[in-house]
Amino acid sequence: NPQTELDEDALAGLRQQLAGSVLLAADPGYDEARRVWNAMIDRRPAVIVRAGAESDIAPAVRFALGQGLPIAVRGGGHNVAGNGTVDAGVVLDLGGLRNVEVDPDRRTVRVQPGATLADLDAATTAHGLAVPTGVVSSTGVAGLTLGGGFGWLTRADGLAADNLVSVELVTAGGHPATASDTENPDLFWGLRGGGGNFGVATSFTFRARPLPSEVFSGNLVYYGPEHWTIALQAWEHWTRELPDELTSIITVIVPPPSWELGDEPALIIGFCWASEDRGEGERLVDALRQAAPPDAEAVEPVPWVQWQSQTDELFPKGVRAYWKNTSFDRLDDEVIALIIGRAAEQTWHGTAFDIHHLGGAFGRVPEEATAFPNRSARFWLNVYGFWNDAADDAARINFVRGFATDMRPFATGGQYINFMGAEPGQDPRSLALTVYGPDKLERLTALKRAWDPDNAFRLNHNIQPAPA
Ligand code: FAD
Repeated sequence: NPQTELDEDALAGLRQQLAGSVLLAADPGYDEARRVWNAMIDRRPAVIVRAGAESDIAPAVRFALGQGLPIAVRGGGHNVAGNGTVDAGVVLDLGGLRNVEVDPDRRTVRVQPGATLADLDAATTAHGLAVPTGVVSSTGVAGLTLGGGFGWLTRADGLAADNLVSVELVTAGGHPATASDTENPDLFWGLRGGGGNFGVATSFTFRARPLPSEVFSGNLVYYGPEHWTIALQAWEHWTRELPDELTSIITVIVPPPSWELGDEPALIIGFCWASEDRGEGERLVDALRQAAPPDAEAVEPVPWVQWQSQTDELFPKGVRAYWKNTSFDRLDDEVIALIIGRAAEQTWHGTAFDIHHLGGAFGRVPEEATAFPNRSARFWLNVYGFWNDAADDAARINFVRGFATDMRPFATGGQYINFMGAEPGQDPRSLALTVYGPDKLERLTALKRAWDPDNAFRLNHNIQPAPA
């Protein structure tokens, strides 16, 4: 980058310490290496460090801080707000560190910080195990877990973060540290929901759960507002009494042609039954089917890795993206009417929304046990844009914002950092207050002061070290 004067000696010193490589603006491959998943984020780092070993992380952090350059940490690169890159600073790209080691006897899994959900699922399913993560397999384990991690096992086992045993990290001082229930437990609290604020994770160790290699799962599909009303009413009622093993997510979308579901907007009730007891799963789904007969359905046991990648094609690297989320408890006639109004309006490809049913193991984690906010929420709504043409930016962003604004009166507090798009100009402290509430923000702020007093790691949903 012509604006950034780089110290040649320091660069040479960095190169010497790395198993991986350093890319500068003039190097071949720089343009590809600077891209992140969201094509709306177009930044030109001065230096891209591609870690080739976990031991590359500390020298890269020391280099950036020693040179007074901002550092962006990138795992899977999927952050919607674009925090995985920076203009005129250092990108620490961990995407080459994708090793996943399963210990089938202990039922633990050690994951490197560039692994994707696909890497993790492929390794665990070979042992009849699974770790709760998210629903699109190209997403990075690192960012997803540090922010929380919602997916098809959330009710059965909680968030990805709830299943962490420990995290190894490099601190802002460039030193190694471990966070677990017994080592630095306060830091461990903050890493489960506080994002990348406290250091660079060099590995994550998770508890895994047994899961049949084929899971009973599927989608019930509904067309047209009259059917949507019945489906939402029935789903609301159904979700009141579900066992933990059943996680359900509603998606409202104009289906892509390859799904062969027509080109009308569809409301799809997806479910995943994390149990060997197929008969009980069938019975539960049948109750919903009776209450709201679907217009189409695909319900059967499918290999876990296939279920985990069923919507991947909607989200290739390079789409344009802006997302918002809200939690809510009421899915009564008033909220259903609002949702259906927005669903009927959304007649294009390139935006959609999901309603996650929560509770279960997620809801039983005590509020004070992790930094992740708002455990008592019954539902999370995630409104997401994923379009291709820059000419559609304003319309798609307006839809996402408008829907989130409509839902504000019903919000039950807290927001999910991993489902938030870029909000340039917004004060980080007031944003963090909306996400965590005053008590958690105070604890996070103290933790930040202890572990990163100069806010070296600030390219994230930032917790500022200074008290209000
Ligand atoms: P990155 O952009 O690489 O990293 C995101 C941020 O995490 C970085 O800016 C940094 O602050 C921090 N970070 C990353 N690696 C490290 C590290 N090693 N140490 C310290 N900090 C680090 N979320 C869900 O909960 N459930 C879903 O089902 C889900 N589906 C998604 C589908 C798609 C297509 C996309 C784009 C996102 C989805 N998300 C989901 C949101 C996802 O959790 C966030 O986008 C998350 O930030 C992605 O992590 P990443 O490692 O890929 O991203």
